Amino acid sequence: MGQPAARVHDAETEFGDPDQVRGLQWSKLEGIIQRTYETNPFYRSVWDAAGVDIASVRSLDDFRLAIPWVDKSMFLADQVANPPVGTRLSTEMDPREALEYYTTSGTSGRGSELHAQTTSEVAAMVDMYRYGFTWAGLSAGEKMALTLPITMLAGGRVEYQAAVGFGMSVLPIGNYDAERKLEVIRQFAPTSLFGSTTYFAHLAAVSEEPVSGSSVRTLLTGLEGVGLSYVQRLEEAWGAKAFDRFGCAQMRADFLFSCEHGFGSAKSPGVLHAIDPFVLVEVLDPVTGLQVADGEYGEMFVTSLYHRDTPLIRCRLYDGGIYRAAGTCACGRAFSGIEVGTIGRTDGVKKIKGINVYPQAVDKAVFSVPGVEEYHIRLSSRGEADVAQVTVMLAEDMPDSEIGKAEAVAEALRHATGLRFDVVLGSVEHSEYKVARWTDERSRD
Ligand SMILES: [Zn+2]
Repeated sequence: MGQPAARVHDAETEFGDPDQVRGLQWSKLEGIIQRTYETNPFYRSVWDAAGVDIASVRSLDDFRLAIPWVDKSMFLADQVANPPVGTRLSTEMDPREALEYYTTSGTSGRGSELHAQTTSEVAAMVDMYRYGFTWAGLSAGEKMALTLPITMLAGGRVEYQAAVGFGMSVLPIGNYDAERKLEVIRQFAPTSLFGSTTYFAHLAAVSEEPVSGSSVRTLLTGLEGVGLSYVQRLEEAWGAKAFDRFGCAQMRADFLFSCEHGFGSAKSPGVLHAIDPFVLVEVLDPVTGLQVADGEYGEMFVTSLYHRDTPLIRCRLYDGGIYRAAGTCACGRAFSGIEVGTIGRTDGVKKIKGINVYPQAVDKAVFSVPGVEEYHIRLSSRGEADVAQVTVMLAEDMPDSEIGKAEAVAEALRHATGLRFDVVLGSVEHSEYKVARWTDERSRD
């Protein structure tokens, strides 16, 4: 296989000098910090409490040292203390522009965060997505099917706006069931699907005719980290090439995108590039708090360089991954990023039988077994002991699929975690979004 041809949206920054990109970042950030301090009571109180002297913050390095991070628990506390929206959305109190409102699903039980952005911020967001769409080989005027539902969640809505803004003919099929989604795909013949990774596999599995014969040539995957072998099977099933992305509710957008190399290969894994002119992604050592070096694991802290009215400044995501420095991807871009398939929650580690288990390692292990479509893990107690049971759903189109599969999954899990899981075959619920794969019913004292 030859190298994919470079697809370039903005040659000057993509293939320019990384120092110049950092200069551009600071020139945008400087004004945002000043304006935020003057207009946003939430950030002002956080910075005042940390004793920040805004006038002395004169470079990206000063910024990293002086400005404290914020996180969703602080956003929620602000909402509770100052209902209903908190002091963070000061634009809401002085509206000069229409606002797009979003809530989070609030599955943690601590309530759902409220986020908003202005029409002009949405327009800037569209410019950020242009990089990702261009790198995936899409062109304005093409048809795209969006498989995420349109709801109060940011996921789905922002993808819709980004794709429409880029000039795609977007088919919003997310609110339909799988069968109707497939019908629309057959009827309108879109060239791309935009949604979440495992849902594309689900669509392929439930389709009566092989989807490899469909019009779809590009899969814009996301919302979940999966291993390379899973993606390769997905690409094969659709006869399409996959390009990944990563975003979060706090940013109200995706801000990491695959370049033309997609997921890459085992020898040369793809990079999810930060769109550096629009977002400052710091990848910090969990112990020292310092930026990690190329190839090292760190936790992401995100600052938006285009939200001037509803700022997001040094937001701790509790998501980590392997940092890739500017210029280290096979494409040679001056944008930094995260190695594809390495992103996972830093606060999601499960302790099972005294051993720390990373959900992303379990994802990788289970999905490495061919024929596995979805899975769910239930943790329970038997006396003092933890019991870990995994229900594995196999793709329907494999007649001999059950033979040896339970053993193969158990062996993959034992190899990845050192633990014995009870494996049963059964059916598991699907989601167009991120799938909730863990239930913890263990008794605690
Ligand atoms: Zn690249």
